[in-house]
Amino acid sequence: MKDRTLLMIPGPIEFEPAVLGALGAPTASHVAPDFIEAFGQCIERMRDVWMAPSGQPFIVAGSGTLAMDIAAANIIEPGDKALVLSTGYFGERYAELLKRYGAEVTVLRAPLGDVLDPGDIETELKKTSYKLMTVTHVDTSTAVKVDPRPIGKLGREYGVLTILDGVCSVAGEELRQEEWGIDVALTASQKAVGVPPGLALVVAGPEAMKAWKDRKTPVGNYYADWTNWLPIMGAYEARKPGYFGTPPVNHICALNVSLGQILEEGMERRFSRHSRIGSACRAAMDALGLKQVPTDSAHAASTLTAPYYPVGVTGPELLPKVKAAGAVLAGGLHPDIKNSYFRIGHMGAVKPGDLLATVGAIESGLSACGYKFEPGAGVSTAQQVLIA
Ligand code: PMP
Repeated sequence: MKDRTLLMIPGPIEFEPAVLGALGAPTASHVAPDFIEAFGQCIERMRDVWMAPSGQPFIVAGSGTLAMDIAAANIIEPGDKALVLSTGYFGERYAELLKRYGAEVTVLRAPLGDVLDPGDIETELKKTSYKLMTVTHVDTSTAVKVDPRPIGKLGREYGVLTILDGVCSVAGEELRQEEWGIDVALTASQKAVGVPPGLALVVAGPEAMKAWKDRKTPVGNYYADWTNWLPIMGAYEARKPGYFGTPPVNHICALNVSLGQILEEGMERRFSRHSRIGSACRAAMDALGLKQVPTDSAHAASTLTAPYYPVGVTGPELLPKVKAAGAVLAGGLHPDIKNSYFRIGHMGAVKPGDLLATVGAIESGLSACGYKFEPGAGVSTAQQVLIA
């Protein structure tokens, strides 16, 4: 039998062969003309994918946490007030991270699986003068998706910068950074952007860049400092070499291939493909009788699904059986419910057939665990949504 499993976790994901080809190609000099061209194109293409025509992209070797760090380090000065809108584990991470740069952090927490009411956010903004607020577009620990629109709007109204952690959303969920008033939108390469782990990707809008320029104190993180990176991004975009830290040459070439594919698909089509696959996965889990962490499908992510295990089934029992049937899934992450649920990633290059195979593998695993359901109910429901 073909020894191939689908990697259906919420990042890293399945990657396109052309992207992996670029990653495995002989490494060029970081000042070679072809590489300069690829880097320059990446910067231009990020503006299109993020829908931020006036944004300044930053491409830096690192993971999504570094992207979070870059936004915080460059904007926060000691004593600044920051509001974290938390819908799970990654909101909590942002709160801890901001404190390292001396921010006074307030956290507004949504109940598990739920979103915050924009009215409650506005009440908080009326009470205290914040420099920035952070929002996790999709919290990968809960599969809860927040609508960034009212938040960006409130940010503009109250003069507060909005930082969007889009690690589990950019290039999958609908995002229109500039139109929606998002000052920084950040992600990592290994999710819907479609490149193996290794790149921190940030787009900062004019207000965020102004806050950085107006700083009274130096940025408290040497590697993250835009003072070091802005000239490099400017040089490569002008098709000239630049050096601060050696760029991850192969990753950037792979990013250029992936961004090209994303734009070729078209953002609107890409958003609707993700939305349809997300709906199909949730419907399949419903059909199998599996409850999900998001309390309402209106705020459930399109990039991943988070079902609870049925009564009597545990992760250590189920997940290896699903893997043996062909799909690698992830266990829980949110500390309150870690052992009660699992996560299915479906973003980036994912095809309808990948989802059907995954739902089939989940059915096989559930059946092998002794769970009673109508075989094929999940697959058939997913297919109905996919071809509707
Ligand atoms: N934010 C979110 C929403 C994430 O899903 C992740 C990674 N799962 C991160 C931040 C951190 O990214 P990384 O693991 O690449 O550091």
